[in-house]
Amino acid sequence: MVNVASWGRLGSHAHELVALHDRARVPGQIAADAGGRGAGQVQGTGLAQGNARSYGDVCLNPGGRLWRTTGLDRFIDFDAASGRLRCEAGVLLRDIQRMSLPHGWLLPVTPGTQLVTVGGAIANDVHGKNHHVLGCFGDHVLSLRLARTDGHVIDCRPGECSPGAEAGWFAATVGGMGLTGVIVEAELQLRRARGPWLVTDTIPYATLDEFFPLADASEAGWEHTVSWIDCLSGSGRGLFLRANPAAIPDCTLHLQRTSRRMPFVPPVSLVNSLSLQPFNAAYFRLHQRRAGHAIAHFERFGYPLDELHDWNRMYGPRGFYQYQSVVPRADGLAVTRAMLAAIKASGQGSFLAVLKTFGARAGAGMMSFPRPGVTLALDFPNRGASTVRLFERLDAIVGEAGGRLYAAKDARMPRALFEAGYPRLAEFLPYRDPGISSSMSRRLLGS
Ligand SMILES: Cc1cc2nc3c(=O)[nH]c(=O)nc-3n(C[C@H](O)[C@H](O)[C@H](O)COP(=O)(O)OP(=O)(O)OC[C@H]3O[C@@H](n4cnc5c(N)ncnc54)[C@H](O)[C@@H]3O)c2cc1C
Repeated sequence: MVNVASWGRLGSHAHELVALHDRARVPGQIAADAGGRGAGQVQGTGLAQGNARSYGDVCLNPGGRLWRTTGLDRFIDFDAASGRLRCEAGVLLRDIQRMSLPHGWLLPVTPGTQLVTVGGAIANDVHGKNHHVLGCFGDHVLSLRLARTDGHVIDCRPGECSPGAEAGWFAATVGGMGLTGVIVEAELQLRRARGPWLVTDTIPYATLDEFFPLADASEAGWEHTVSWIDCLSGSGRGLFLRANPAAIPDCTLHLQRTSRRMPFVPPVSLVNSLSLQPFNAAYFRLHQRRAGHAIAHFERFGYPLDELHDWNRMYGPRGFYQYQSVVPRADGLAVTRAMLAAIKASGQGSFLAVLKTFGARAGAGMMSFPRPGVTLALDFPNRGASTVRLFERLDAIVGEAGGRLYAAKDARMPRALFEAGYPRLAEFLPYRDPGISSSMSRRLLGS
């Protein structure tokens, strides 16, 4: 058994770790692993794990197996004329983009880190800063191959309802938290890219009231929109960032790639009540001075945290939580204001606080997180009971507004909030693979 933690490092748990390398052997391998398990036993259940970039327990199966997919890292077929890519599920999004960009293609949707696998991106149906234009990762998956622990292999595509087609499996697996089977490979539609550069615009705003008009005004003309918010300021001030692809030939500018590492786990969190307020204030002032237009490489704009490896160690031995909610747009201002007030009153705070609007489109998956509305994502150092009490307060605000929390970030949401937030849950459950279980599924689904 090997101790494994997720990105939030809230604890590390013993797992039987099985590395998958050969896609042809995966169906037989996971079927053999799952055989001989008694009903209701955790021991013997398995779960696919990609690059463990989920913050909480969606990618953990303590006491059971983890089928680690990062060895399934091959490109199978790439058509540079159409931008269609077939690859194994453990390929990192970074490796796709670095391969495809010289051919004039990039992934349409990526999250705030490129260091996630294709399988992980499908299973959480991840979103990026361009949700209002291009939706989620699953909207660009043309087909996927799913291995079940009973030995069956299912090839599925979106939206096909003809006899023999497997549209239900597709919609259950996209955003299905790894619970429908192991994705072995997928075919993706990339999008045309004029180069690696973006024209960016940074707009400081003084109060939360200014965020919503800025978001409304930016969505029509800008592909990427996102905002950093100073959740300790009281006013809800922040920095609104927007960006569009720029038509600058690759050869005229170069990205100086830096790659640093947080070398150790400090004895206490470096993000704490002493450091947060001055840090947030300094961050705001620095970017206030740099407001306006700039040219940025898409990697630096899209994935700034990837430049500091192991940055999650900064939160010390107790780790940290991320809390990401989405609430309907109509109540967005009032709900966000109430959440920020609860955070300030609790004496806790977040440096990584991101506010963004989602577009008016449903995800491809039954359990996809994004819905039309406003999403707020916040990192909190784990301070034990006081952090949990704050979350209970935030849960009440989100629940009352008819919102939901994001499984990819969660380690503790109550079952009632999960059930209320995901109305297609009953439709999803029949697609579960009985040989697959996670810490999250046991917590939120009872098995
Ligand atoms: C710095 C940072 C920024 C982030 N920003 C965003 C963001 O902007 N938007 C967003 O949506 N998310 C974001 N995330 C979350 C991240 O994109 C997701 O958690 C993603 O799913 C992680 O992929 P992974 O390969 O690490 O998978 P893991 O975390 O290992 O697993 C995630 C889920 O996928 C399942 N899974 C993995 N591989 C397979 C497979 N082959 N078959 C079946 N199931 C599988 C697992 O069982 C698990 O349920 C961010 C994370 C970090 C650390």
